[in-house]
Amino acid sequence: MDAEIIAVGSELLLGQIVNTNAQFLSKELAELGINVYYHTVVGDNRDRLRNAITHAQNRADLIIFSGGLGPTKDDLTKETIAECLGRNLVYDSLAMDQITKYFEKTKRPMTENNKKQALVLENAEVLANDHGMAPGMALHVDDKTYMLFPGPPRELQPMYANYGKPYLMRKLQKRERITSRVLRFFGIGESKLETEILDLIDSQTNPTIAPLAGFGEVILRLTAKSPSSEDNLQSLDALEQKIMRRVGRFFYGYDDTSLDNEVFRMLKNRGLTLACAESLTGGWFAKTLTDRPGASGVLNGGVVGYTNQAKEHLLHIPRSVLDNEGAVSETCAKLMAETCINLFHADVGISFTGVAGPDASEGKEPGIVYVAIAESGKRTQVHSLLLAGNRNRIRNLAVKHGFFYLLKHLQHEKSE
Ligand code: ATP
Ligand code: MG
Repeated sequence: MDAEIIAVGSELLLGQIVNTNAQFLSKELAELGINVYYHTVVGDNRDRLRNAITHAQNRADLIIFSGGLGPTKDDLTKETIAECLGRNLVYDSLAMDQITKYFEKTKRPMTENNKKQALVLENAEVLANDHGMAPGMALHVDDKTYMLFPGPPRELQPMYANYGKPYLMRKLQKRERITSRVLRFFGIGESKLETEILDLIDSQTNPTIAPLAGFGEVILRLTAKSPSSEDNLQSLDALEQKIMRRVGRFFYGYDDTSLDNEVFRMLKNRGLTLACAESLTGGWFAKTLTDRPGASGVLNGGVVGYTNQAKEHLLHIPRSVLDNEGAVSETCAKLMAETCINLFHADVGISFTGVAGPDASEGKEPGIVYVAIAESGKRTQVHSLLLAGNRNRIRNLAVKHGFFYLLKHLQHEKSE
């Protein structure tokens, strides 16, 4: 459903008031998955309003009006809409009662023009005004929906919330259901991912694909709209399969998850325990896992082996390896991961060694990082990374890569 909001009022054009009604309505409609493509502001002028309505009819399914429902001569919204739609205005008895009561209560004489506020478009659903006199309206004519709200925000907002939104929700339920799915990827840049699926993005109509870049990761939000939730799920599945065929190796989870959450779940499901040996990450990996309650079920322990001496004495890295290949090396990473399995009697070990910067170390540039994953009886895998950014970013990205490789390792083991 595509919508346009028409705010009526010369005060808006003169800059005397700000169009907060359009802002409020736009936010609300976005929540319902309704696309707002145009905001129009038009003065209290019959011809120009008629013109605006014709434009809106050509480009929107839902046209929402604010303002111009009051009793004075310049309030001409419903009169003009009635003209455009060829509808009569009729008295609404409930609105009439409310107006009469209001004047009795305030002991003021009711002027003739106040009766005008009880006039509504014939066959419209009347939206009660609990905070003023002019009622709102909703009606459907020739495949278009029209909604009319009074201008004062303190009347419009509760009227929308209590009567307008429920009306729209009933309409949407008849028309379409919206189903969304978020796919999370790691280790692939946004532009690379977009390039890999460019043809799918270019030809998207339903479901739609919206990419979003996060820290070291990319998110794709797929949204399907149709009258049936099952159809939505089917079309999302089909699109997801196409995407996975191309970039599935970078996928790690759905919706509101994170890399460490997926690793945590995977270890728990498989009843495996973990140990870690960290150098450049200084305990960041262990801290991330232990942020979760129940972490002792999956993490036996970890060592921060920061200096060469610590690596030699705590992690049993031979002096010769440290002297010849260095602490930042594939061999050192491999041995760190293997040793921590034994130290903590864990099933799987992970290690981090590298240069966080800003200065080079052992003649190696900042961003060079090795992550190793060891499991007894299996060949230890060492991943070498070249990360960009400042010290903090390099360390954070190293941890994220560690979780990602661990997840892939555990998934791979499972499928074997
Ligand atoms: P009333 O019965 O009060 O005359 P109305 O439906 O005729 O209501 P307008 O006369 O157009 O509405 O505007 C009344 C007041 O509502 C304005 O003076 C302004 O304070 C507020 N208002 C109108 N339109 C907007 C808008 N688009 N955004 C924010 N406030 C608005
Ligand atoms: Mg008015």
